[in-house]
Amino acid sequence: MPTRPDKLTTTALAPTPCPACGVPLAHATGTEPPTPGGVTLCGHCWVYLIFTVDLGVRRLSDGEWLALPPARREFLTQLRDVLRQHEPPTTHH
Ligand SMILES: [Zn+2]
Repeated sequence: MPTRPDKLTTTALAPTPCPACGVPLAHATGTEPPTPGGVTLCGHCWVYLIFTVDLGVRRLSDGEWLALPPARREFLTQLRDVLRQHEPPTTHH
């Protein structure tokens, strides 16, 4: 069953720079604790990220995105929209 975006937890991480924008990611917001292979979002530039085995992050590739189940992609799209509304990124550009 897809999890609704209103059941979110925030987990503290060892600060890791976002591979896309370089902002340190001090925590992950999602529906589950971070696990290797889990998908999360950068709270600054809103790219999708995937946890590596040591809970670092790298960008989710297009192929990995397309390999996700459609319900998961739909959920992540909704999650990004929800988070954007609650925490608008500061505009530096
Ligand atoms: Zn970023």
